[in-house]
Amino acid sequence: MPAGSYLFCDVSLPVPLDQAFTYGLPETLRHRVQAGSRLVVPFGPRKLTGVILQCHDDPPAVAARDALRLIDSEPVLDKELMALGRWIAAYYCAPLGEVLRSMLPLAADIRRGKVWSLTDAGRDAARQLLLDASPDDPLVQVLRMLEKRPLSAAYLSKTFPFADKAIRSLERKRFIVAEEVQTSRDPLRAPSERLRVELAPNHAGDAKLGKPERELRAFLELHPGSHNLKEIEAMVRNASIAARSLARKGVVTLTTENAATTAGPVRVRHSLNPSQQAAFDQIGAAIQTRRFRTFLLHGVTGSGKTEVYLNAIDAAIAEGRGALLLVPEIALTPAMAGQFFSRFGDRVAILHSAFTDVERSEQWRRIRSGAASVVVGTRSGVFAPVKSLGLIVVDEEHDGSYKQEETPRYNGRDVAIVRAQAAGACVVLGSATPSLESRYNAEREKYTLLQLPERIEARPMPTVELIDMRQEFLETRKQSTFSRKLIEALQQRLETGEQTIVLLNRRGFSSFVACRACGERVQCMNCSLTLTYHKRDRRLLCHFCGYAERVPASCPKCASEHIYFMGLGSERVEEELHQAFPTARIARLDRDTVTGKRHYETILHGFREGSYDILVGTQMIAKGHDIPNVTLVGVVSADIGLGMPDFRAAERAFQLLTQVAGRAGRGAVPGRVLVQTINPDHYAIRLAAAQDYQAFYEKELNFRRMMHYPPFTAMANVLVRAEKQEAAMRMSADLGILLNPPPEKLRIMGPAEAPVPRLKNEYRYQFLVKAISRKALNELLQRVRAYAIQQKWPATSLVIDVDPLTLM
Ligand code: ADP
Ligand code: ZN
Ligand code: ZN
Repeated sequence: MPAGSYLFCDVSLPVPLDQAFTYGLPETLRHRVQAGSRLVVPFGPRKLTGVILQCHDDPPAVAARDALRLIDSEPVLDKELMALGRWIAAYYCAPLGEVLRSMLPLAADIRRGKVWSLTDAGRDAARQLLLDASPDDPLVQVLRMLEKRPLSAAYLSKTFPFADKAIRSLERKRFIVAEEVQTSRDPLRAPSERLRVELAPNHAGDAKLGKPERELRAFLELHPGSHNLKEIEAMVRNASIAARSLARKGVVTLTTENAATTAGPVRVRHSLNPSQQAAFDQIGAAIQTRRFRTFLLHGVTGSGKTEVYLNAIDAAIAEGRGALLLVPEIALTPAMAGQFFSRFGDRVAILHSAFTDVERSEQWRRIRSGAASVVVGTRSGVFAPVKSLGLIVVDEEHDGSYKQEETPRYNGRDVAIVRAQAAGACVVLGSATPSLESRYNAEREKYTLLQLPERIEARPMPTVELIDMRQEFLETRKQSTFSRKLIEALQQRLETGEQTIVLLNRRGFSSFVACRACGERVQCMNCSLTLTYHKRDRRLLCHFCGYAERVPASCPKCASEHIYFMGLGSERVEEELHQAFPTARIARLDRDTVTGKRHYETILHGFREGSYDILVGTQMIAKGHDIPNVTLVGVVSADIGLGMPDFRAAERAFQLLTQVAGRAGRGAVPGRVLVQTINPDHYAIRLAAAQDYQAFYEKELNFRRMMHYPPFTAMANVLVRAEKQEAAMRMSADLGILLNPPPEKLRIMGPAEAPVPRLKNEYRYQFLVKAISRKALNELLQRVRAYAIQQKWPATSLVIDVDPLTLM
């Protein structure tokens, strides 16, 4: 649509309010504005970047301020994506401006692009406060820093823990102002430098390399294909110098831009086995009809789902359409990306939330121009501007990382389905352990069920044995971390050179610290949660808010010196494995050892290459990896998480155990799985061991039906939080009155203390709403929002979570 000429436009801004804001258009912008483009506008004392909803000539009731600057000469969100944004805002009860912001590749940039500086009043206050207040006061610290020079919000939050709060308070006092800084990182900008770099086909792995060289190589391993060197420079320090020296050592090749070849190493294309073929036939046919349809591809671990996806993408391309593949956060590894590059070459774009803005913008630009028609991405990849979308694949559709746990709290899988419906595209949801919701939709024939019941080449499923740790204790009279059977099996693997994965889904060394004298457990200062002991850092750490403190020498409550450490974490499992097997090469993968995505890759790559015998870790190690030499999986405790006050606890335990068991025996040697538990009779554990998805599904579905839980009801969690307990109580009581009596077709539980009553220094109360009508649920939630806005509750006080995955 060519731009017309308009006097005004309505802009959606990333603020927690529902309405759009009208701005006047200065002469220079009148002909250039279009719906879907970003516009910089004044908002109070600040400048904000918003998205234009519509342009018009109707003057608003109150005089409008003028827009400042247009960022995009062409819309960044087309009609289809704008409509999707509106759907998300309505369905998840989130402000449209915040939804649109999170749909854009520069979301992080816009948020982080805030630079704070002192106002005149702030300057005076700084002088005054510096004299009067304690130097430890966060307000003083921020003011002192800003006195020297303006600083970005990101820098301030990184520098000290309470910056966000201090900033908010200083802003309220009008001591500081923010400016939105737009850097030159515009997604539509064309690359300037012409040199491209990529890994040489058979580059030697262990040439002696300097740090910049190693970093560049790691980067290229994670991002297969050729890259513009100038752009890499922005992400990897000294990339140019490193690239040239690596080129001399034969590790990378450098080419000029135009000569960049598209051919990567050719991946062997497997011919599909009969189950794969049958599944693909249906998907392929559906793609050709160009009509919306959703498939649920239920394939056991190692059944070759990826090959089906690849064929489906081929079919979409053959129709001249684009394809989108969504994968869970942790699954987007070089191995995964590599498969796509080798199959689809330069048509592939990768979107990963861990990528830098520059990187994401560049990929986004290629997608939008149509140069990339196959997109692989994590959750927010569902918003990629793929041209003529014909297929969306959601791999591991049950995975929790598809759900965004901040506003807008959307589920990427569900958004994918809505987007596909509007685009007339097909959806393939794949999983070895489909979510109850998806499997139920298949049962009701909303989705078409496709099954891959066997592993590739008729490899056997691993045998799973449950080890009752209560019995183990009775027999050995020792409280040990590993059962005799697990030790023995590990020993055997070390002798045969096969590899083992050991799972304990809890990080840290000891899960809590307690006092023998009075029983007190050391809790977080900000949360009603116990602190976890991390031995390497010699600190107690809160896994929810990051609060850390030194291990107390005596009990904070009764001063007894008899402090003891309880409960296992992955750090301790690693240490005990070292003690049990001093010569074994052991690596650990959890959030403590993985500080960046590159590090994660290095460890995993090392394991794949055989540099380690044993990989210990949390759920990170359970997903997706296909490492043929792994023949043993040990689960130290299957019980973690089972006792959580959450109706999905059993489902999650079943999924985790099934997935981790699925890592064993993917090569020629059959796999063995040993699961230690004190609940061997719990149905989630028993049926995961039996690898009987169907039985679990039926049992769990019955429970959900009886208890009126999803998929039989639509559910929402309404959470009220505040720093002061009285405030939180009062707000939740007021809401309680508003919601009483509950409208028809709704059941409301609450207000009640949230399972974690205090988190990140805020008191929390919640309402659980179950509805047999989506519409009734939505109406109620909209009423709650309107009420909060009308009552002028602080924006962060109300959290509405539609289709929540966790109730904590
Ligand atoms: P899943 O995702 O279902 O767990 P994968 O897609 O990772 O399984 O496939 C498991 C392994 O089987 C992979 O190494 C893959 O290359 C291989 N594979 C897939 N399809 C075939 C086939 N038709 N013939 C031989 N090997 C195959
Ligand atoms: Zn005590
Ligand atoms: Zn905490």
